[in-house]
Amino acid sequence: MLALLRDLRSLRRTTGLPAAARGRSLAVRHVDCGSCNGCEHELTLLQSPTVDLSRFGIGIVASPRHADVLLVTGPVTTRMREALLTAYAAMPEPRRVAALGDCALGVSVLGCDDEIVGPVESVLPVDLRIPGCPATPEQIASALLELIDRR
Ligand code: SF4
Repeated sequence: MLALLRDLRSLRRTTGLPAAARGRSLAVRHVDCGSCNGCEHELTLLQSPTVDLSRFGIGIVASPRHADVLLVTGPVTTRMREALLTAYAAMPEPRRVAALGDCALGVSVLGCDDEIVGPVESVLPVDLRIPGCPATPEQIASALLELIDRR
């Protein structure tokens, strides 16, 4: 058991993320607006023991009513536009929006033009841009930590 914990500690050092912080937190609500699920695979790894986002006070929440940040993946499809606006409207102030992945940033990796409204910023004001196809868990974690520091 101790050997496993030692291995985990050295593995975490390779991520380049800072040491765990106390006294700050960020609640994140994720909305998939039409991604290929590649970005979601990377998001899942944020909960893995290697990154363990909760040690920085960052957690994924189930409701936008509890969220500080709306983390959006994929280009905004016509079917998801209203759901995205509804989630944003339900968030308490001050609310932030993060666009994760090249699709959310409007690089047009996916979709047909008549099914896509556009990048996230064509629907909502975007505070944080996380490029990549997909971005790595370490890049996503670093960007969210930067957002905590801005608060
Ligand atoms: S940015 Fe890449 S991984 Fe993410 S949804 Fe688009 S195509 Fe998929």
